[in-house]
Amino acid sequence: MTKGKLYVISGPSGAGKGTICKKVLEEDDNIRFSVSMTTREPREGEEDAVDYFFVTKEEFERLLAEGGLLEHNLYVDNYYGTPRKQVVQWLEEGHDVILEIDYHGAFQVRDAYPEAVLVFILPPSVEELRARIMGRGSETEETMNKRLDEAMNDLAQADKYDYRVVNENLEAAVEEVQQIMKIERSKEA
Ligand code: ADP
Ligand code: 5GP
Repeated sequence: MTKGKLYVISGPSGAGKGTICKKVLEEDDNIRFSVSMTTREPREGEEDAVDYFFVTKEEFERLLAEGGLLEHNLYVDNYYGTPRKQVVQWLEEGHDVILEIDYHGAFQVRDAYPEAVLVFILPPSVEELRARIMGRGSETEETMNKRLDEAMNDLAQADKYDYRVVNENLEAAVEEVQQIMKIERSKEA
């Protein structure tokens, strides 16, 4: 059986990763989305086991110590990580898998799976990024500023990725990601 492909989608908070991934997943039922684990509080409308597995710091640290995370990072005072078991199972079953994670995690994944495809989502401008994070309405001024600081660090990593996609027009960005997946699949054929 052909093993699935592993895609990593990164980009600064507010770039539109979640929105793009949702559309890509809706249109291809062979692709699976890895639900990350986090110690941050759920945002309004976010569901446990759908958007994230929301856990305590103790629960996160226990899984980490057991080797149950494929990668992890501490971001704006909270842990984020990818549970290993589900990803490995899906890849073995032949599903493509998307990880929506930051660059710290992305490079850990590249070390473990050199064949993983790393895609970076860029906002059209920093002003637009700020407007999108504000529009989401879930941040205080303090976490907003921390997220913008992190965004600058994130953007500096874009050239280390296999592909970069600017999310100005949503439909065009979704199509570009789908095109990347098509190119990668055709390399296997
Ligand atoms: P991320 O997952 O990268 O943090 P989101 O997918 O949550 O980003 O998007 C941040 C905000 O920007 C959301 O309110 C989303 O609806 C909006 N958004 C996403 N893509 C676009 C786009 N191309 N044009 C305008 N707004 C967008
Ligand atoms: P948010 O709080 O906006 O959902 O996510 C904050 C940051 O954490 C984003 O850059 C997001 O990509 C990243 N992130 C989400 N899940 C994971 C994960 O499992 N691992 C890592 N390393 N980063 C993650």
